[in-house]
Amino acid sequence: MKIVYTDVLVIGGGLAGLRVATGVKERGLETIILTLVPPKRSHSAAAQGGMQASLANAKMGEGDNEDVHFEDTIKGSDWGADQEVVRMFVNTAPKAIRELAAWGVPWSRVQRGDRSAIINAEHVTINEKDEAHGLITARDFGGTKKWRTCYTSDGTGHSMLYAMDNKAHEDQVEIRERREAMALIHENGRCYGAISRNLMSGELTAYIAKATTIATGGYGRLYSVTTNATICQGMGQAIALETGVATLGNMEAIQFHPTAIVPVGILTTEGCRGDGGLLLDKDGYRFMPDYEPEKKELASRDVVSRRMTEHMRKGKGVKSRYGDHLWLDITILGRAHIEKNLREVKDICENFLGIDPAEEWIPVRPTQHYSMGGIRTKYTGESQTLKGLYSCGEAACWDMHGFNRLGGNSVSETVVSGMLVAEYIADYCETPESAINISTETIEHFLQIERDKLMTLLSHDGGEDSFELREAMEKIMMDDVGIFRNGADLQKAVDELQELLIRSRNITVHRSKSLAANPALVNAYRTQKMIKVALSVAYGALLRTESRGAHSREDFPERNDEQWLNRTITSWPTDDQTLPDVTYEAIDIESMEMPPGFRGYGKNLNIVHPQSEIRQKEVDVLREKMEAEGADRFTIQKALMPFRDKLPQKYRGRNERLSERFEG
Ligand SMILES: Cc1cc2nc3c(=O)[nH]c(=O)nc-3n(C[C@H](O)[C@H](O)[C@H](O)COP(=O)(O)OP(=O)(O)OC[C@H]3O[C@@H](n4cnc5c(N)ncnc54)[C@H](O)[C@@H]3O)c2cc1C
Repeated sequence: MKIVYTDVLVIGGGLAGLRVATGVKERGLETIILTLVPPKRSHSAAAQGGMQASLANAKMGEGDNEDVHFEDTIKGSDWGADQEVVRMFVNTAPKAIRELAAWGVPWSRVQRGDRSAIINAEHVTINEKDEAHGLITARDFGGTKKWRTCYTSDGTGHSMLYAMDNKAHEDQVEIRERREAMALIHENGRCYGAISRNLMSGELTAYIAKATTIATGGYGRLYSVTTNATICQGMGQAIALETGVATLGNMEAIQFHPTAIVPVGILTTEGCRGDGGLLLDKDGYRFMPDYEPEKKELASRDVVSRRMTEHMRKGKGVKSRYGDHLWLDITILGRAHIEKNLREVKDICENFLGIDPAEEWIPVRPTQHYSMGGIRTKYTGESQTLKGLYSCGEAACWDMHGFNRLGGNSVSETVVSGMLVAEYIADYCETPESAINISTETIEHFLQIERDKLMTLLSHDGGEDSFELREAMEKIMMDDVGIFRNGADLQKAVDELQELLIRSRNITVHRSKSLAANPALVNAYRTQKMIKVALSVAYGALLRTESRGAHSREDFPERNDEQWLNRTITSWPTDDQTLPDVTYEAIDIESMEMPPGFRGYGKNLNIVHPQSEIRQKEVDVLREKMEAEGADRFTIQKALMPFRDKLPQKYRGRNERLSERFEG
């Protein structure tokens, strides 16, 4: 039996995992990262368009600050987000981006003087201020009032991840690659680490830690077409679920991105539309202003994806042998702009479509992209129900995205939550309750369970083929748990997934029988886990009889605040059940800084909660009174919904901007 002891175990070497590990390591804790792939190959590298932080350096970002970023994010979430968490996030994002600059991220910068841009299909000239010259610039993104998305051309995730990985190496964080966390070790409501499998040798090791963090990213690969990397299979959510103790939040909240290329589903960044690209139909007609007169192509992603689908359903899609699609036109931006700021998009178009996007329109269609749901945590990143288990990044439901995340808020979340959660973990590790108090027999028991599962998969013949089951699962999710959902399709999906789950209990590995490097074995044990995660999504979607953010029910088109202003909580208490247990966590209007209202885009079909109006009046009265008394925006904000005391001391400071300086 191989056991490794450490203070903090981090599962996942993407942006979130690396930032958490760096943070705890800098607090003097022994830290190990387990990752399927070398960190620089994590899915975070795929992020293209940028990272939101309200710096307000660029002309079109003037007037931006944490309050505007907060408001945009809450509207984007369709009031599903935890408003305290969003406040913590928007306050820390400007610090995070400057820290990354110091670590070597070559953010694109403001250049003084006139520059040309495309806004609403028109060429305009923007004059950048002298004093902003050389500061981090930003581009426009969906659902934002200001240009707030900072970028490094369209390779933002790549440059962030490289800088972060280099920093982790500089800090001598121990990184163990090709190691897969297969199960969490836990006893009496306390997590003690994980059982990991070496993907090369097949060896199993127990990693025992005071604190364990899951930063394994999203679960896009439940769907047959997705912008996600092949390793985004929801394994972090699955191993949390399989404890029977940890819970998942809002699993049905799945985002579809408007502009993935057809047919392969590779993303072209929202930066294309942010920089002025247009969506056109089969007649070359720009349809989005008809649906969304104010935000047009730059409404939030859930809204644009639905509008595109609606338009195609009206027969306005371009017919192709891969199904209908629409066009993304970035020719309007000009070759020079594309080759500088959208160079990855150009490469993708050339390599996967054989077209030059400076000359030709790009065939696009909404495609699965992001998982708002994940391991439900407190604001500290700790599981609400399993002590010592933490989660951050896309793997978590922290919950700052609610039912729809804004573009650019995800890589920002990975870093910000990594920074904050690292501090909470380090604090926890300094307390006596973090002491490792688990017997070797219990550890051996967990190892044995995993050994037995692997042997069962390998030892007999004639069982189910995991590749077949997985393909069936992906098709069900794509066909019946998509952009538009309805009760009949969702019920069918749940029934079929339950059948697949039962069949998956009889999977055998038909090809190689090796315990060491064996992709068929990997697929076999992951498939059953993936079906459980898929059921959590589909069943949550079936039960939620309303439409909120990216969860859109054709049979219940209203956002129903009266009945559904809550978070879906999923658990899987016993292994023999075929459906998860689902409960709901209320979202309290009375403590909201921004009570529910109309988002300003999309359809206004809200069933209003009676408490909303009452709270809105309270907020308005208090704000008016304090403004009359000369209170500044920070004092007013604190009176409405205090959050700063929850932040680690070192991140509580206010953010300076060119237009907002503080003394002392
Ligand atoms: C094409 C594309 C473009 C995007 N562009 C943007 C953008 O411009 N702006 C933005 O804000 N967001 C963007 N996003 C979203 C954003 O990139 C992701 O949400 C974010 O990078 C996720 O980071 P993470 O650290 O949480 O997870 P990941 O980067 O996915 O890392 C997960 C890590 O977990 C490891 N892992 C997984 N399972 C296991 C296991 N069982 N055991 C051990 N290790 C495991 C993997 O090896 C990996 O290291 C984009 C997403 C896509 C798909």
